[in-house]
Amino acid sequence: MNRALPLLLILPMLAPAHSPTLDRRLPAPATRARTEIRIPDPPGLITLKCDLHIHTVFSDGLVWPSVRAEEAWREGLDAIAITDHIEYQPHKDDLPTKHDRATDIARGAGQSLGLIVIRGSEITRSMPPGHLNGIFLTNCSLLEVDAWHDAIKAAHDQGAFIFWNHPGWESQATNGIAVWYPEHSQILAEGMLHGIEVVNGRSYYPEAHRWAIEKKLAIVSNSDIHAPMHMDYHLRDGDHRPMTLVFAKERTPDAIHEALRERRSAAFAGGFVVGDETFLRPIFEKSIRITNPGFAIKGKGRVLVQIANDSGIDFHLGRTGELAEVTLPKEITLPAGKTVILDVRGTGAAPAGERRLTLPYAVKNLLVGPDQPLAMRRQSSVPRVN
Ligand SMILES: [Zn+2]
Ligand SMILES: [Zn+2]
Repeated sequence: MNRALPLLLILPMLAPAHSPTLDRRLPAPATRARTEIRIPDPPGLITLKCDLHIHTVFSDGLVWPSVRAEEAWREGLDAIAITDHIEYQPHKDDLPTKHDRATDIARGAGQSLGLIVIRGSEITRSMPPGHLNGIFLTNCSLLEVDAWHDAIKAAHDQGAFIFWNHPGWESQATNGIAVWYPEHSQILAEGMLHGIEVVNGRSYYPEAHRWAIEKKLAIVSNSDIHAPMHMDYHLRDGDHRPMTLVFAKERTPDAIHEALRERRSAAFAGGFVVGDETFLRPIFEKSIRITNPGFAIKGKGRVLVQIANDSGIDFHLGRTGELAEVTLPKEITLPAGKTVILDVRGTGAAPAGERRLTLPYAVKNLLVGPDQPLAMRRQSSVPRVN
């Protein structure tokens, strides 16, 4: 018995509270790091990445507002709008209805991160007119009124930018196709409809895209996220939330509002960019460089043209025609941040001399209209010696 005692006294000294061996095996804590999204600026403007439709626990979302701000900052966004439902408050027994509180909380977090947080609400009505977001509000509570038209008017009276959410949402669309109702014509005529979600979550609505063009509405594209972002998007595998690219004069809330009113926006979702050629062409052309220009092809010889893509968007090119002088591949993918080799072969049919060739390709993931990819006009210099 006596011999065992010293051992018992020593044992606690041999077992420290934290095992250094175990500590070394544990992964490092998560890094609070931002991943920038590299998309070029159109001339004289800056490309801001915005998600203008986000839910929190203050309606039917599952996330606290400050977490929304940090998610967006980490994913490289410049601005978000918190847009909880006015009429749908399923958590109200646990969290009292406070229509403006989510933005206040997210804005506090946003300020410390340099993320713009815009005050908004989702007017949540049956179809027509369906769901509409008012953003750049000053008092969300004023939207809590009986008649749908009064709710939209209450947003409009605050100078809000108002857009129609998920027009093709299967719960409110007919046979999965979005329908434009007289009520939409009415609010458009009254100057109370300024934009339309061409993309919501994982859905692209070609009808909405067509209406954005025909009725001069701003294109918007948003996550409408309810869960933690990483539960719906495979962020580490290059997946990204849908966002609205806003081509603003500066990085301020007022400049974002002005750009949206002037329809300087595009949708960026699922690796696609959807918008007017005015913006999509400079985005593409400023992304792409031929790193070995001034090459020569002799007769039926070949040359390896190197094309760099400096942007964060993979571009998928499809051939739309033939060239007499050279043969070209049917499909080309220009991955983000990489330089690829384009194997160009002479046909032997071209006369000698230097010429510039327009490569007959369309960029399949840049849509300037429904089913209308951006046609390449970029000229590559191809000096030829036959
Ligand atoms: Zn909705
Ligand atoms: Zn929503």
